[in-house]
Amino acid sequence: MTSANGDYRNKDILLGVMGDPIAHSKSPLMHGAALQALGIPGAYVPLHIAPGQLGEAIRAVRTLGFRGVNVTIPHKVAVMEYLDRLDGSALAVGAVNTVVNDNGVLTGYNTDGIGYVRSLKAEAAPELAGTRILVVGAGGAARGIIAALLLENPSAVVVANRTREKAEQLAAAFEAKGAVSGIGMNEIADRIADVDIVINTTSVGMYPRIDETPVDPGLLREGMTVSDLIYNPLHTRLLTESRQRGCRIHGGLGMFVYQGAYALEYWTGQSAPVDIMRQTIIDALGGSAG
Ligand code: NAP
Repeated sequence: MTSANGDYRNKDILLGVMGDPIAHSKSPLMHGAALQALGIPGAYVPLHIAPGQLGEAIRAVRTLGFRGVNVTIPHKVAVMEYLDRLDGSALAVGAVNTVVNDNGVLTGYNTDGIGYVRSLKAEAAPELAGTRILVVGAGGAARGIIAALLLENPSAVVVANRTREKAEQLAAAFEAKGAVSGIGMNEIADRIADVDIVINTTSVGMYPRIDETPVDPGLLREGMTVSDLIYNPLHTRLLTESRQRGCRIHGGLGMFVYQGAYALEYWTGQSAPVDIMRQTIIDALGGSAG
């Protein structure tokens, strides 16, 4: 994919990621490798921005001539008020993770959900139309991926959350876009029989609590696709148990890579070197592909 934002191949570009905390972020590593692979001179730097500094930091994007920034926790919603324009992807999700600076005009995009769906289709489930999807969790990540999943015309999306009301609220927010319903975690057993794809969007199973699983593995059956947004570890217990039961599995690394790929494509107008970006993260995590 290329954007209409011009060809930055031979220009120095300055990029970064704003968050609090930010030291743990793997984005500088991934984008640094991508810029190098594309032969684009420039830098992608971590920017530690406390909540009270966000407005000033966004103004500095224009002053310092950054081509763009990623925005991460806790700024994804708050940043919207400081931007000039919001892309449809940001409006659908109600949050921004990518800002593009076109000669001082800042546009906010959300590439998390579309990045996730591009990865899911490329790596596990090429056809989502007509599928029945169970989304476990109702936080910010769930909101982004539900918005993107609904563009693929699944026949149903069921959101299950520990706090049932949050699942219901999320479902209600998307009711005009498709068949979305909200349930409690304890209702998964009754609803999972006809589900094609299970997606964990909770943090359950993430390092260091790698023995935990958000869904009873006994409920999973052969032929299902099971996807986990977590990428540390690369294979969560949920995915390991799912594979043992004959499910097709999909980890969270692809989402991270493709949300970055879309952002890089908006900033540079070049196709992102996704294989190099993925391998950079695998090397950094000390894991193996697959
Ligand atoms: P969030 O907004 O804080 O939402 C967290 C969700 O997890 C809520 O639904 C919460 O339920 C649920 N949860 C937390 N602890 C739980 C527990 N012990 N038992 C059951 N449910 C629990 O977080 P988020 O931003 O959506 O991120 C969620 C996960 O997605 C994280 O692991 C994050 O690393 C991952 N993620 C991955 C990528 C990627 O690129 N691969 C991108 C974004 C996020 P309640 O509502 O009941 O509290």
